[in-house]
Amino acid sequence: MLECSIVISHPCTRQISKFSTPITMRLSWLVFAGSAIASLWQDQVVLGTESAPQLKSETESSLLEFHKNLITIPSVSGNELAVAKYLGSYLKSLNLTVEYQKVTKNRYNVYAYLGNKRNTTVLLTSHIDTVPPYLPYKVEGSRIYGRGSTDAKASVAVQVFAFAQMAAKKVIGEGDVGLLYVVGEEVDGRGMETASKSLGAQWEAAIFGEPTELKLGVGHKGAYVVNVSVNGTAAHSGYPELGVSATETLVPLLAQLLNAEWPTSKLLGPSTLNIGKIDAGVAANVIPAHAEAQCFVRVAADLDAVDKTMTSILSGHKNVKYDVLTKVEPQYLDYQVPGFDSIVLAYATDIPHMHLQLQKRYLYGPGTIHVAHGANEYVEIQDLYDGVDGYTRLIRHCLE
Ligand SMILES: [Zn+2]
Repeated sequence: MLECSIVISHPCTRQISKFSTPITMRLSWLVFAGSAIASLWQDQVVLGTESAPQLKSETESSLLEFHKNLITIPSVSGNELAVAKYLGSYLKSLNLTVEYQKVTKNRYNVYAYLGNKRNTTVLLTSHIDTVPPYLPYKVEGSRIYGRGSTDAKASVAVQVFAFAQMAAKKVIGEGDVGLLYVVGEEVDGRGMETASKSLGAQWEAAIFGEPTELKLGVGHKGAYVVNVSVNGTAAHSGYPELGVSATETLVPLLAQLLNAEWPTSKLLGPSTLNIGKIDAGVAANVIPAHAEAQCFVRVAADLDAVDKTMTSILSGHKNVKYDVLTKVEPQYLDYQVPGFDSIVLAYATDIPHMHLQLQKRYLYGPGTIHVAHGANEYVEIQDLYDGVDGYTRLIRHCLE
């Protein structure tokens, strides 16, 4: 088998160092290191102190144990350090080369592969952060509950096991498959942005792990988020002629947005508009001096057309200001693989944050998005087992 080693890659210095030494030797090395490098190593020393879990074998029980450990460690976006440490040490115990890529302070992506070939034909990737609040792990009947149980720690666990089984059977070798687990997917995609800009590895095909009910996502909608704010003049509501009502300007504009035609896609269906937040006025007897709304269009097609419609409705009005907060193109993915069903998805993923050119992009994973982010997030245990089989078949397809 290959030497067990940790590689630390620092995005600022691009310095890469390899260890196969015990932690005590790393600490003594630290004494001699310069102060700038010392802080980098201190990050690594913290990461390295987590003891690796005991691997039994690539069995179903150890898959469940690994999945359980991932869920038991809270990792709400911004606080992914502990889970990154655990995952890194676990991958190291599988004799993978493991890199921690710093994203921001105490936030690391984890990249792992066999041997020395950082560029691989296939990339398996998912995210290690979750939405709040943390929900504890529990098993009830055929289901596993807990935050991240489906989104996306199920994908992480199952991808790692598919990889481990294939490597153990020597179906895959050096340069075939890499594993990338990123932070921040649930917030701003910063982990994937950092990986695609400065990890410096390349892949031909990527399989993104998110809950897709074990079907291949045909794509997912993009996003257009706009904040509309209107300024008026406050006055006594008995004398409206003395003021300017901000809501009387805002409400008709929102009605126009609701009645507008948004682009549709044969593949992804209609674009949909949600007026998710409205904030206006101070009291029923006061003419409101300010009104504001946040609107979110899930874009199925033609982001430019969405932009034009927004501009035509919202621009050119006195006292109306609008800011486009998010603009993300819809994503069309590869989904025609023998033996797989397909599914249309409305949720966002890290895929738009992966800027590297890929020949194929797949979206696949255990569990359903309908329970993700909710108070009863769960995954069916059978989905985990079936997911290992699904990822294995997908990897084989990509390597053909
Ligand atoms: Zn997710």
